[in-house]
Amino acid sequence: MFIEEDVKLDFCDVLIKPKRSTLKSRKDVSLERAMHYKWSNVHDVVIPLWAANMDTTGTFEIAKAFQMGLCNGYWGEQAMPFVALHKHYDIEDWDSTVYFPEDTNARMVEAEFPSGSNNMAYTCGMNKKEFEKMKVVLEKHHHNGLRYICLDVANGYHQDFLDFVRKVREWAGKRFVIVAGNVVTREMTEALILAGADVVKVGIGPGSVCTTRKVAGVGYPQLSAVMECADAAHGLEGHVMADGGCTCPGDVAKAFGAGADFVMLGGMLAGHDESGGEVVDVDGTAYKRFYGMSSDTAMEKHNGGVATYRASEGKTVTVPYRGAVLDTMKEVLGGLRSACTYVGASQIKYLPKCTSFVRVNRQLNNVFGS
Ligand code: 5GP
Repeated sequence: MFIEEDVKLDFCDVLIKPKRSTLKSRKDVSLERAMHYKWSNVHDVVIPLWAANMDTTGTFEIAKAFQMGLCNGYWGEQAMPFVALHKHYDIEDWDSTVYFPEDTNARMVEAEFPSGSNNMAYTCGMNKKEFEKMKVVLEKHHHNGLRYICLDVANGYHQDFLDFVRKVREWAGKRFVIVAGNVVTREMTEALILAGADVVKVGIGPGSVCTTRKVAGVGYPQLSAVMECADAAHGLEGHVMADGGCTCPGDVAKAFGAGADFVMLGGMLAGHDESGGEVVDVDGTAYKRFYGMSSDTAMEKHNGGVATYRASEGKTVTVPYRGAVLDTMKEVLGGLRSACTYVGASQIKYLPKCTSFVRVNRQLNNVFGS
């Protein structure tokens, strides 16, 4: 048994310290980032935010809303955020949806966005059946711009996972960007990159509907995890995606400031028109259901119940209905631009270099509620 004594921090333990800046307004800040990857030869310009591969956030509807945002100049950039589609869509769903032929694609062509404007990532779990399904979808739709793979397991520390990443890289060659996780420590970040991941997904236990810390007592404070894994990944020309624990736009800014190349959002994007599911009325207030992908709800929906040898590690909640997802994204992007102006970062990629954190005892004034 061993106790690490140095302090590890969460988003709520710090604030970003303002610095002298020559940026006059949020308009001077670019949230686009040109990406080049360690293993794949995909070269992209992106807004580095991803909707999580959960039933209610990894939806085709959210991907489409983001694409429409690009067509309508909503992002104020020539790029858009991504969506990791949840892994329960079947091949036919992909076949009928990947182009969005009826409107979005036509408008994209009209606006002269290349087919590379596809903002979807294919999520694959670690088993043979899912791997086979992924190969079919990706072979069919690679020419439509589908070029990101998200290899997602709750516990990225399993030796089999490294073998799986190697196997997928062998098949993918340089054609696909591989995002793999989740882990929270340097050595496993390095191992995943060396096994063939371009981007390592970081986060165990911080999620809004995750109960791993409670059920298993396992986890790692997310800000420190992102800082440490980013440092390890960047040393190998890899990248990291901070996944979980962002509760407000300020947390997203802190994740980027800590070195994240991408940030993945679940709870912050739940409860919207594009999240699937019904709006329920409780005493005159509208709500939508949101649940963890290891919750009883998800396991009943997809696996016919929770297996007897395991406990559910996610919860089911109702969140207030929040309308269109683009309005929420506007707040997130506005917050990020603001953070960049406070520290003098003209581009999102400069945020880590410009960020100093201060540790705080109290982050928010909640006298009138949070
Ligand atoms: P959020 O943005 O809601 O704080 O976190 C989203 C992330 O939580 C997801 O991308 C995923 O990594 C994680 N997550 C989603 N569902 C579950 C679950 O049921 N259990 C656990 N442990 N993590 C989950």
